[in-house]
Amino acid sequence: MYPDVQLLIDGAWTGAEGGRSLEVVNPASGEVNGTVAHASRADLDRALEAAEKGFKAWRKVSAYDRSKLMRRAADLLRDRADGIARLMTLEQGKPLAEAKGETLAGADVIDWFAEESRRAYGRVIPARAEGIYQLVVKEPVGPVAAFTPWNFPINQVVRKLSAALAAGCSIIVKAPEETPASPAELIRCFVDAGVPAGVVNLVYGVPAEISEYLIPHPVIRKISFTGSTAVGKQLAALAGAHMKRVTMELGGHAPAIVFDDADVETAVKILSANKLRNAGQVCISPTRFLVQEGVYAQFVDGFTARLKAAKVGDGLDAATSMGPLANPRRVAAMDAFIGDAVKHGAKLRAGGERIGNKGNFYQPTVLTDVPMEARIQNEEPFGPVAVISPFKGFDDVVAEANRLPFGLASYAYTRSAKTANAIAAAVEAGMMSINHHGLALPEVPFGGVKDSGYGSEGGSEAIEAYLNTKFVSQAGL
Ligand code: NAD
Repeated sequence: MYPDVQLLIDGAWTGAEGGRSLEVVNPASGEVNGTVAHASRADLDRALEAAEKGFKAWRKVSAYDRSKLMRRAADLLRDRADGIARLMTLEQGKPLAEAKGETLAGADVIDWFAEESRRAYGRVIPARAEGIYQLVVKEPVGPVAAFTPWNFPINQVVRKLSAALAAGCSIIVKAPEETPASPAELIRCFVDAGVPAGVVNLVYGVPAEISEYLIPHPVIRKISFTGSTAVGKQLAALAGAHMKRVTMELGGHAPAIVFDDADVETAVKILSANKLRNAGQVCISPTRFLVQEGVYAQFVDGFTARLKAAKVGDGLDAATSMGPLANPRRVAAMDAFIGDAVKHGAKLRAGGERIGNKGNFYQPTVLTDVPMEARIQNEEPFGPVAVISPFKGFDDVVAEANRLPFGLASYAYTRSAKTANAIAAAVEAGMMSINHHGLALPEVPFGGVKDSGYGSEGGSEAIEAYLNTKFVSQAGL
């Protein structure tokens, strides 16, 4: 049964003031799953008060005890993964196996940050005089406001939540209104594990109303946002005006580069699977396939065959390899991108249309011969569409990979160690994975450069974003 999702404020699950709520729709059927509470200004004020109180309590809890509590939450999440995954598929559409994988990976993220909290080391700097101690101390930055999107309802919350709690911060999570139940269940694991009231608060509502109120608010000391570059720039500007620390994980348009000397079959297999994952609604999804002329035809044929063979359907059906798009906006966006590309002369090798008229199902789509003026060569598609283009040599592909203002994920396939080293150095991106898909583990950095944002949501860098550095110089008496 899909729940009517509530807010969590000061340790209590509650409806919104005045009982306001929004409907949550199943993207596979178009039917209403249930509702989610829609926070008012008064609810936000209570959440801010709770977060302030929660921070005062949580920062005094030792890293050892914070870590133990977080591990309990991770175990609860593992125990409840089947039920939570089902909710995620009902609200987001992704195949059940992907939803369960995301939930279990969330538990790994919590465990990793729980360990990291015990290693938030400072240092001692050698002094210039005897009896002086120069200490570098790490302190939690303060209450956090986190804004997360609908494509990975658990993953996007758990990275911010775990890093904040590990550092000793309290948090207000503004989770996605379109996929609210699975993140609420994630947060319930922390409540049931014993996190003190006010340390974790959860709200939903009108995203712009909430961000415009929380970001400038004096209680909030740190902002973390995942979403589109356009919104990220607005929120970063607002945070800048109020001198708040910011992590921004924004859009990309990932180049996937296949050189003549690559193992083309492996490249086809891995890249097509990652194109279909979450119906392409992934910020690190490979989107611009740049294939060297010698293997271009082989790659296009193999890749197109794989996308044509994908089984698109309800994520609850075990045979489904790709679910529906998460909302009707994405269907309209795919139609617009593909229509514009074809109008500019692109060749449609596979797909190109919505499937049926119930739910947001879309055919996996392959476009070739797409002119640079077409929108899809310049804007993130965020859907199951691949654009494949040939290139001649190394310098050409580097110029094309770096042409856009984005710099999040990038991929390359080559059998040459020299080419692998050279392409890793030349591409302007926060992440590159060579000859396999190896991104987004909790222990490795995750983030972008240029218009894709700044800061990291993985690795030891991620916890740094929630810590202040204090310098203490002390002389003996
Ligand atoms: P959108 O730009 O309206 O929203 C993107 C996300 O930002 C949503 O989660 C939304 O709730 C939030 N948001 C929007 N305005 C906000 C505001 N003023 N304050 C706080 N949060 C705000 O578009 P959309 O239709 O929901 O998503 C489509 C686009 O968003 C995609 O094309 C993609 O580029 C981007 N997106 C990126 C990611 C990611 O993982 N980086 C995830 C989801 C969406």
